[in-house]
Amino acid sequence: MTAGPLVLLVEDEVPLRRFLRTTLGAHGFRLVEASSVAEAELALGAQSPELILLDLGLPDGDGVDLTRRIREWSAVPILVLSARGREDHKVEALDAGADDYLTKPFGVEELLARLRVALRHASASRAPDAAVLELDGLRIDVARRRVTLRGAEVHLTPIEYRLLTTLAKHLGRVVTQQQLLTEVWGHAHAHHTHYLRVYMAALRRKIEDDPARPKLLRTEQGVGYRLRDPREG
Ligand code: CA
Repeated sequence: MTAGPLVLLVEDEVPLRRFLRTTLGAHGFRLVEASSVAEAELALGAQSPELILLDLGLPDGDGVDLTRRIREWSAVPILVLSARGREDHKVEALDAGADDYLTKPFGVEELLARLRVALRHASASRAPDAAVLELDGLRIDVARRRVTLRGAEVHLTPIEYRLLTTLAKHLGRVVTQQQLLTEVWGHAHAHHTHYLRVYMAALRRKIEDDPARPKLLRTEQGVGYRLRDPREG
């Protein structure tokens, strides 16, 4: 049996840590545990985890600050564990460089799906960019700047195209409103969230079967948007 991915779990709640130890162990992950920022930094000095599961509220500091410090030297995927109703906190963590978040309480399937997405994205970013992306009938051909839906050409404006390809670059992971605005429109527009609502609605009308119940372009309330990865199941 080959050794599974090494995960650093930073979480001060003992029952949740025990649950994650059992669950991740049963799915082949190897685990290093830390219950504080100090322990996490010690562990990071001694080990090279392939992913970090990070609680934000830690006894000796904030997971957001830790994320910022890790990002100064490492691109390791960081999956944040966050309490419900703290959208501002999630946004802060994502803007600090976290890859995604899970809202407590979360289910095992959701946890495993997010872990797979984060690990796959990390290995994909070491490989050359995929030129063509296929998602449930939607095909994005980056080299030819061409988008088709079940074989029929979809005509996108340059902004709509950039919005779609930016989300595709982060496939399966949430992108904050500010990240999208900065990447698509530029820094000067980082707070023009109404742009997003307008263009996202237009994009949904073009690529969703039912724009009112989007299957691909998901809204993460108060946080941002996510292009659903069909492999998430
Ligand atoms: Ca906590």
